[in-house]
Amino acid sequence: MFNKVLIANRGEIAVRILRACRTLGIGAVVAYSEADRDSLAAQIADEAICIGPADARRSYLCAPALISAAMVTGCDAIHPGYGFLSEDEGFADVVRAHDLAFIGPSAEVLERFASKEATRRLLAAHGLRTVPGSAMLRDEAHALAEAERIGYPVLIKPSGGGGGKGMRLVRNAQELESTFKVSRSEAKAAFGDDSLYLEKFLEENRHIEIQVAVDRFGNAVHMFERDCSVQRRHQKIIEETPTPALNEAQRLDLAECALKAVTAAGYENLGTLEFLVDNKGDAYFIEINCRIQVEHAITEMVTGIDMVALQIKIAAGEPLGIAQSDIVATGHAIEFRILAEDPAKDFRPQAGLVGAYLTPGGPGVRMDSHLYPGYEIPTYYDSLLGKLCVWAPDRATAIARGDAALRELLVDGVTTNIELHRAILANQVFLDGKVTTSLLDRVGSAPFVAAGSR
Ligand code: ADP
Repeated sequence: MFNKVLIANRGEIAVRILRACRTLGIGAVVAYSEADRDSLAAQIADEAICIGPADARRSYLCAPALISAAMVTGCDAIHPGYGFLSEDEGFADVVRAHDLAFIGPSAEVLERFASKEATRRLLAAHGLRTVPGSAMLRDEAHALAEAERIGYPVLIKPSGGGGGKGMRLVRNAQELESTFKVSRSEAKAAFGDDSLYLEKFLEENRHIEIQVAVDRFGNAVHMFERDCSVQRRHQKIIEETPTPALNEAQRLDLAECALKAVTAAGYENLGTLEFLVDNKGDAYFIEINCRIQVEHAITEMVTGIDMVALQIKIAAGEPLGIAQSDIVATGHAIEFRILAEDPAKDFRPQAGLVGAYLTPGGPGVRMDSHLYPGYEIPTYYDSLLGKLCVWAPDRATAIARGDAALRELLVDGVTTNIELHRAILANQVFLDGKVTTSLLDRVGSAPFVAAGSR
């Protein structure tokens, strides 16, 4: 096992990783930017080190700063969290070249799964159904020909993508012509890689993902699925497990197929395979995330497995230590992403000083957050303030607990989406378990915002 881990991330994930290190009895150093000097992670850590200015490119994304921070503090491993450098094979390689361990897949594994388009082909070759789509697009003429073959509407997707950036829906050839170049430059700006591919746009679908864990010895398990269909502009806002959209046999079949394909393709460490599922229950693979995910906490709640600790153990070369038959998912869990944004003003990101901060409690309630009263939310980073997760023996009770917990949660001084969550929970489509990924964008969030305001 490692002696000391550098936590190369911020916000609630830095706090979460710190907790896992402490549980495992290993040291941890929190790396923070100048804008995060007063962060909760830096305050509660035994050791913390400044890695540069607020601009992430010069701190959280700056490999030399992170490597030197790890070396001067005597760390033997770096945990990149999620986002930032967590799926960067170049960084994983540099970390290893400095005799440090990268907590995540190896550089080779990250490279194999780096291109979304190549991963689609790789996993299709190992038996997963994928959304009909194109190979990498050479130019606009190629894009037009491929879109014609696939049939409109299609989505233009950056192959190096993530976070919905550069992804564009086009309904006809004219739209494709006017969008193609914009997508290319957006992809280049966001990922340093302008390669694009097309996918058939599935109008009504659910986003269901399978959590897997694979160690170096070929032991592999899945931890069932998460349903992340409540989205806004292709970004998840509520996740739950189990999915209300599939029956027991369909759930297990999807999890087993995903695990089989990904292990055959040579995956290692924790990972998530994302699928779009149509109303017949047919699942189409879209992408793999080679890292811990924001929504891992609901899987922890139903399985009782500390996934961050498990990830650290795998990276340290330890065997999984759990068999598939040991993993039992009990009850129902829901996560609400608490975001600093104003639903009434087109979800504009908010910053500011947190006044009173009251967190909910009671059975089955978990709040993972880096907030505290008096915390000044910096403007430089994403708007995730924390995750409120609830667990209950069944879905209806989990929804009731979720609403009760959201009512108790108070973040004074900053506008948040707490009331939007409550409105979604009260919505009949959600109660029926029938939300599709485009619901909020199609009906607009106005009805939810109006219903949710107190
Ligand atoms: P990113 O990596 O940028 O998050 P994904 O490929 O994971 O992009 O897709 C994010 C979301 O976009 C999905 O959960 C879904 O809502 C929507 N989406 C992606 N591909 C399709 C598709 N082919 N048809 C319809 N919606 C899609």
